[in-house]
Formats: sequence, structure tokens, C-alpha cells
Amino acid sequence: MMDATKFYIDGKWVTPDGSQRLEVINPSDEKGFSTITLGTQADTDNAVSAAKKALPAWAASTKEQRIELLERLFETYKARAEEMAQTISQEMGAPIDLARSAQVGAGAAHLKNTIRALKSFSFEHPLGDHAPDNIILHEPVGVCALITPWNWPMNQVMLKVAPALAAGCTIVLKPSEISPLSAMLLTEMIDSSGFPEGVFNLVNGDGAGVGSQLSKHPDIDLVSFTGSTRAGKAITLAAADTMKRVGLELGGKGANIIFADADEKAVTRGVRHCFANSGQSCNAPTRMLVEKSVYKQAVETAAMIASKTDVGHAGTEGRHIGPVVSEQQFVKVQALIKQGIEEGATLVAGGEGRPEGFETGYFVKPTVFSDVAPGMTIWSEEIFGPVLVITPFETEEEAIELANDTLYGLTNYIQTSDKDRARRLARQVRSGMVEVNGKSGSAGFPFGGMKQSGNGSREGGVWGLEEFLEVKSVTDW
Ligand code: NAD
Repeated sequence: MMDATKFYIDGKWVTPDGSQRLEVINPSDEKGFSTITLGTQADTDNAVSAAKKALPAWAASTKEQRIELLERLFETYKARAEEMAQTISQEMGAPIDLARSAQVGAGAAHLKNTIRALKSFSFEHPLGDHAPDNIILHEPVGVCALITPWNWPMNQVMLKVAPALAAGCTIVLKPSEISPLSAMLLTEMIDSSGFPEGVFNLVNGDGAGVGSQLSKHPDIDLVSFTGSTRAGKAITLAAADTMKRVGLELGGKGANIIFADADEKAVTRGVRHCFANSGQSCNAPTRMLVEKSVYKQAVETAAMIASKTDVGHAGTEGRHIGPVVSEQQFVKVQALIKQGIEEGATLVAGGEGRPEGFETGYFVKPTVFSDVAPGMTIWSEEIFGPVLVITPFETEEEAIELANDTLYGLTNYIQTSDKDRARRLARQVRSGMVEVNGKSGSAGFPFGGMKQSGNGSREGGVWGLEEFLEVKSVTDW
């Protein structure tokens, strides 16, 4: 791999202006294994200026030219999939099998779906039969800053990079400083696929530095951000002066509503889904709401599944969960588990401290709390670790009220064999996505949230492409 201290600006790997370094830590052994540079204002300015210079020609490129380059990138991505899986697994702790399948696979799927959406997208069409001479033009927004988190690095980077390129925008990517290496590997792939100089640029840095410099920058037209609600608010404020467009994909605290008539695997599926990626998914079903008549059984099943969930080194093959990403995250999750106990929730599996046999590594015990009530910290806060909370409900109305009792609104889950009830509830829960009976969305399913999970932006497929386009309406065409 390339020298990770460099940045990619104007089609070349360059020596940064900044000299401050940051170690990339493997969360399985707490050891640094690579070093990046944290960019300065000068680095940010250089990257933005390269993207601005490249914009007119790239925005004028044809759809066919962009499809050809994106298809080349897709081939390269597939050919280097194993390298990508190893990189993700080391930098953020996803077990290697999960890294190979879901982590790398998500990137491939989003790239493929974007190419599909681009092929069928019409960048120019009449307003309607009633006004054939009124034309709607879909034009690239311009220079885009893409700021991404560490938990699903290629999923989130590709959900932004692919549609931005497909739309004809130029890019400055700032990946998470905790998981920068997968984005740098993707940059190598973009470089070798033959995209014109300056169309794609990468600068590493932290939120306070490069992140906020990009958010404020007068030559950035759009910031597309995925990460915490805290940073989403800071970016929105920083972007206000220049009135740039801001797309936000933020945190979540999804409810998984399980009725007595749900299929027999519903509880097991919900627990596993919550623990997947060590609980570090914004759309994880972290609050399990269970109908009273089957509550006791559900708690027993959840505790049993948690106790059977293996924890292991990310580099080891097999079905287990890995560590959480960092010391900071480990400390936060431990503190929330402690608070859950202190506030009176019933601990039925896991708890504080590392799992048996682990002295180092940011490993957390798969943990389940029952009798969790609104008002408790673990009810409302996004924990971002393998921690499930369970709460009983008696009526459909109560289930909806509990599900909506959160600042977030990303994904809710419904388990019932009654189709009418599922549809009724899907309309009443306040979230951008609803998954029913364990069925996840198909290719191009728009991803995004309501309330403090986002500001109405959607990623994936056609919606993802539209995020990077402006609508221009013209008369007398
Ligand atoms: P984070 O907000 O700390 O960091 C995300 C990115 O934002 C990083 O690149 C970081 O450097 C940058 N950043 C931080 N502060 C910034 C600032 N003030 N200005 C500009 N950039 C800034 O989040 P994280 O810890 O990396 O990721 C975890 C969070 O992301 C969780 O809350 C999770 O729910 C959320 N998330 C949301 C989605 C979604 O699509 N809704 C997907 C994945 C993760």
C-alpha cells in the first residue's frame, strides 16, 4: 500500500503541508499499525482548489463516459476485495468474515446500484405533457465535501463517492481519522481507474480541523456527512454562513417491536442483528419492545443468545463479534452498562468488563438488559456497542408510543404475522425506514432518517444520485 502519510490531490499522492501525525490503532490488540497525517487549512485549500478546477470539464462529461469509469472502478474494487477486507478488519475491528461479506460487499453493492441508477436516469426531461417546452435539467451540485465515519467505512464512503461522481460532481473526501486506510485504498483504485485529475481528492484530518474547514469553505457547494448527531449539528452551523447544501445521515436508536404472533425466530434474529458489527450500526435494532404475553420467554431467549455469542479477534475467521473500535468507545460503552445497572434495569447477560480470556483489545461482553423503562439513560442514548435493551408493552398504541419515544428516527423494525397490523404500524412509527419480519431493503432502497437521525437526505440508488444534483427549470426550450 501507498505511504499513508500522503494525501491525494489533483491526481497525485502528495506530501501534506501538515506535519501532525496520528497512529491508526488495531482495536483487537490496541497496537498502532500505520500512521496518517492530519491536514491543515492549506491542505484543505489545495484539495478544494483542485476539485474546483476540475469541475467544469467533469460536469460536462457525458453519462456514458462516467458509466465507463465507474464500471472500471467496480472491476478494480472486486479484484482488490481481499485487500480491502483485511484493511477494514484491521482498522476498525470487523471480524474478517464480516469484513469480506457485509463490509466490502456493501461498497460493491452501492457502486453497482449507483451505476444502475445512472444508466436509467434522465438528466433532461420536459415538465410534463401539459408543458413540453418547460425543461427540467438535473445538474451537478458542484464541489462536494464528503465526511464519513468508521463503523461501515466502505458502505458510507461508497454511498457518497459513487453518486457524487455519477452526478458529475467533484469531490474532497475526508474519511474518519480512525479508519482512513480503507478510503486510501479506494483512492488507489480510483487513481488506477483513470478518473481525470482533480475529480477526486482525499485529505485526512480530524473533525475540528479538516472537517470544519470543509464545512465552512466558500468553494464547497455541498457537504454530505454521515456520523454522530453532535457533529451533524456542528457541520450545519459551520455551513450556514455560505448557505451550502448539507446532507446528514446521523445516529439512531431503532425499536424492534415484537408481537406475540411473530415468527419463532424473531427474538433470536433481533438479538443477532443488534450485536452485528459489535453493535456499531446506526440502524441497529437496539430497543427490543415485546408484547407482554411473550415477554418472559423473549428475555430468556435473548439472554441465551447473548451468552452464546462468541467474541474474538477480528483477524480470526468464523462467526463471532470483534472489539468495539477504540478506547474512547470502549470506555463509553462500559460507562453506559454501569449506568444501566445503577438506574435499575435488570442485567440478564454480559455486563461490565472484558469477556473472559481478554486482557487487551476493546472487547465488550454481549450484554442484555430487561425491564428497561423510558427515562433510563440506556433507553435513550445510542450506545454503539453490543448492548440490547428490552421493554414490555401491552397494546399496539403503547408499542408505537414507546417506539417513537426517542430523538432519533432512522430504522424501526416490526415482527408480526398480521399484515394489516404491520402496515398500520409502519405508517405510524416516525423513522425513515421500516423493516418488517426480518426482510431488509432491496437494491436502491433509500437510506436515511427523520428527526435527529438526519435532515431528509436519502442515500442509495436514484435517491442517492439526486442528493448530488440541482434542479434547473427552463422555459421556451
Ligand atoms: P463522528 O461524528 O465523531 O465522526 C464522523 C466523521 O465526522 C469523522 O470523519 C469525523 O472526523 C468528522 N467530524 C467530527 N466532528 C466534526 C465536526 N465538528 N465538523 C466536521 N466533521 C466532523 O462519528 P463517528 O464516531 O465516526 O461515527 C459514529 C456515529 O455515526 C454514530 O452516531 C452513528 O450512529 C452514526 N452513523 C450514522 C449513519 C447513518 O447513515 N445514519 C451511518 C453510520 C454511522
